[in-house]
Amino acid sequence: MKKFLFYVIALFCIVFLIPSICTKTKRQAQTKDNIENVEETKSTENNDTSTYPKYNYSNFATIKLYHSKTGEIEELPIDEYLYGVVSAEMPVKYDIEALKAQAVVARTYTIYQITHSNGKHGDTDICDNYACCQAWISKEDRFAKWEKKEAEDNWQKIVNAVDSTQGKIITYNGEVIDAFFHSNSGGITETASNVWGGQNFPYLQSVETSGEDEYSEYNSEVEISKEELINKIRKKHSEIEINYDEQDSIKIIELTESGRVKTIKLGNIEIAGTELRTLLGLKSTNFSFEIRDNSVIFFVKGYGHGVGMSQTGADSLAKQGINYEDIIKHFYYNVQIVDI
Ligand SMILES: [Zn+2]
Repeated sequence: MKKFLFYVIALFCIVFLIPSICTKTKRQAQTKDNIENVEETKSTENNDTSTYPKYNYSNFATIKLYHSKTGEIEELPIDEYLYGVVSAEMPVKYDIEALKAQAVVARTYTIYQITHSNGKHGDTDICDNYACCQAWISKEDRFAKWEKKEAEDNWQKIVNAVDSTQGKIITYNGEVIDAFFHSNSGGITETASNVWGGQNFPYLQSVETSGEDEYSEYNSEVEISKEELINKIRKKHSEIEINYDEQDSIKIIELTESGRVKTIKLGNIEIAGTELRTLLGLKSTNFSFEIRDNSVIFFVKGYGHGVGMSQTGADSLAKQGINYEDIIKHFYYNVQIVDI
């Protein structure tokens, strides 16, 4: 009988007590991990918030905008300025989450320009030329380009994108980032040093985005006569000679990590892909080419320098159900979106 009782107690221990102790230990360990994670997150947040006061939004309440065509200077409230930037930089038909991402990126870009001013526009903050700073259009000019019956709704959509993200900027280690953006990445973005030389920014890594090929900005072609190609390059490189009868008279020498042309040989010279892009007006440095009887044809993927947020990529992600914060975190590595 005693033996039987022993077996019953032993069985009870095996079936109930031991698993219960194990589970408890595991749970305790998990809880400890959670606490550590929370503390880690907290300490990171604390570090960041301690640096935010210098980006107090009220310090950026008014923007001095330099109109690059007329030379006029206009002062306007920052949010009003951002309505003009978002409506100039991104098609209003894009998803609202993409427009919100653009609003936060434009606000971040603006504050970076102000806090890192190199005095390129005198005592003004920023200009309205997309090739220099970021594009801007007045409400009046914007309305004139929209269908009359849609104009008011379109404008409200832009206002909503800016107002619903009011005061939000992107930071890395508590510092405002240089929020580069472009039209279409061709499927993969580029690092800054491959475009402008110099240093790379830790938050600007090369990232892939699906769905970019569904936009009209993805594919383009430039066909140019053999003679005109030489003439265009000769403006910068007077020594150029191309003997098209030679094999590899034009040859891509090196690609960047994202597959864009870093260096290309044209006859007797080698130049950067970025320079050829400028000289020929190609939409990006992500190109291949074909030499034909009388011409050279360039097949180009993507539109713009390829650094930072891709606008069509943002819209593509938004249409896949991704919100503006995650869109921003997709294009800018390891950043925070903070209220200032
Ligand atoms: Zn400018």
